[in-house]
Amino acid sequence: MGGTFDPIHYGHLVTAEEALVQFNLDKVVFMPTGMPVRKTHRMVTSAEHRYLMTVIATASNPDFEVSRLEIDRPGLTYTVDSIKALRDLHGSQVELYFITGADAVWDILTWKESASLAGACTFIAATRPGFDLGRFAEERERGILIETMEVPALAISSTDIRSRFSERRPVRYLLPESVAAYIEKNRLYADGAES
Ligand code: ATP
Ligand code: MG
Repeated sequence: MGGTFDPIHYGHLVTAEEALVQFNLDKVVFMPTGMPVRKTHRMVTSAEHRYLMTVIATASNPDFEVSRLEIDRPGLTYTVDSIKALRDLHGSQVELYFITGADAVWDILTWKESASLAGACTFIAATRPGFDLGRFAEERERGILIETMEVPALAISSTDIRSRFSERRPVRYLLPESVAAYIEKNRLYADGAES
């Protein structure tokens, strides 16, 4: 599961757990992005903070792991490269799934390199409110495997959580308390860097 995780929240965690069970996965690897291509318009919190928040949030789940693959790779992060890297790392016998929100799968698949994703992995697209699943028909025709999955807690977003921190509105029940404490301790979203 790739993401900026700025910060990680219950939407991500619920989605990962649901995918684990519904698709009978051995584990879910959370992979915080290094320099996300699509988010260059705002200051993204340092990779090290995002990595640590992801570790804190997932620590209690024996089936969750966090990968440094993207944050240790210099330059902009392309999801296509990460999927190829995972395939190289695990070999051809392992079944790989890429878990994303349905909106994000759409972003990935509209890239020019997306043709090379056919057969590389199966996408698990968690549906967010208002998302039209019929949109994937064309990708499926191109040989890209996309499964869909309905998840609760879909309205939670990192963007909203960042504004809540900077405006001192409640964040309880949106993300793990340990992550909220880490954010407070390091004053990550205190100065209006929420957009
Ligand atoms: P931002 O608001 O900064 O865009 P975000 O909440 O969308 O953040 P990301 O780190 O961008 O979080 O998302 C990582 C992955 O998790 C993406 O594939 C995204 O679609 C998915 N995702 C984000 N929020 C949810 C949610 N509430 N439920 C399910 N999937 C989600
Ligand atoms: Mg997002």
